[in-house]
Amino acid sequence: MADIDILENVPLAGYSTFRCGGPARYFAEPSTGDEVAVLFKWAEDKGIEVFVLGNGSNCLISDEGFDGLIIRIGKKMGELKSEELEDGRVRITCGAGLPFARFGNYCTELSLTGAEFACGIPGSCGGAVFMNAGAYGGETKDFITKVSFWDGEGIRTISGEECAFGYRTSLFEKLSSEGKIAVILGFEAVLSKGSKDEITALVDDLRARRTNSQPLDVPSAGSTFKRPEGHFAARLIEDAGLKGFALDDSGAQVSPKHAGFIVNNGGTARASDVIRLIDYVVEKVFENSGVRLEKEVRLVGNFGG
Ligand SMILES: Cc1cc2nc3c(=O)[nH]c(=O)nc-3n(C[C@H](O)[C@H](O)[C@H](O)COP(=O)(O)OP(=O)(O)OC[C@H]3O[C@@H](n4cnc5c(N)ncnc54)[C@H](O)[C@@H]3O)c2cc1C
Repeated sequence: MADIDILENVPLAGYSTFRCGGPARYFAEPSTGDEVAVLFKWAEDKGIEVFVLGNGSNCLISDEGFDGLIIRIGKKMGELKSEELEDGRVRITCGAGLPFARFGNYCTELSLTGAEFACGIPGSCGGAVFMNAGAYGGETKDFITKVSFWDGEGIRTISGEECAFGYRTSLFEKLSSEGKIAVILGFEAVLSKGSKDEITALVDDLRARRTNSQPLDVPSAGSTFKRPEGHFAARLIEDAGLKGFALDDSGAQVSPKHAGFIVNNGGTARASDVIRLIDYVVEKVFENSGVRLEKEVRLVGNFGG
């Protein structure tokens, strides 16, 4: 196509923090919303499916890969700017491809409070909005004032309230689960100034808590399961005796450090090994506690069934 490179047969394991999965039949990284629109039209003309990928930190990609077009929203859409408002607060404008941690660090540099939790989340800003990513009591929804997205016909900008944020969900997640198009292009956030020392101390504290409790040196997609109402997934998994459990020596394992994480030790597991372990954990936890865990991790491509 004219200006956008559409690559063929691109291995996707490097685009997922789980470090497994097969190739994309087609793969493109747009620079603008207009390019997103052109790519969707191209896929429609070819009669193939599209999947929008951010940083792949919440996705498990099938070993068969994805038999369509992966549109990756990455650094080409990584705009970041700030503007002080009359009331002293600061408006930050981000492209969806900007790393969410970079947004968090930028807020810290500007002594803005409320986004400290973002510094430890390895997704993109678009992925954070889609999932309403959160940690340690903070959520993406807390500071979002506007989101712009491509809805299949045009670029729309809606308010934070209209994003219908909930626990690890948003309007965009709902639209996507209904098979509708909603490609997040960027957001605006408004944050208040705070004490730089306090903000930096909180960021350091959250980072230390993460490093001490999570297997950050092993491939994973973070928490594999959503937090069930009234429970903690990791506790239920531990209670079922599955902390550190592996079905085989594929590399897929319930982390011995944090039972809520399924990890890919050594990067040797295939997606089929990971999903087999996920399904096993769901069944065992259900047998032990009566609680059916729901995946937070999103599946990309064909997993059968
Ligand atoms: C070590 C580790 C720690 C983590 N800790 C946390 C945590 O503390 N809290 C938390 O909430 N999450 C956590 N996560 C999970 C993950 O980082 C978040 O869910 C993050 O928001 C996903 O962003 P992403 O860009 O990687 O999205 P992806 O994994 O690429 O995609 C996730 C979903 O979002 C959709 N999507 C992504 N970008 C867009 C876009 N621009 N437009 C439309 N749809 C889009 C995709 O289609 C997919 O359905 C962790 C992951 C890891 C690996």
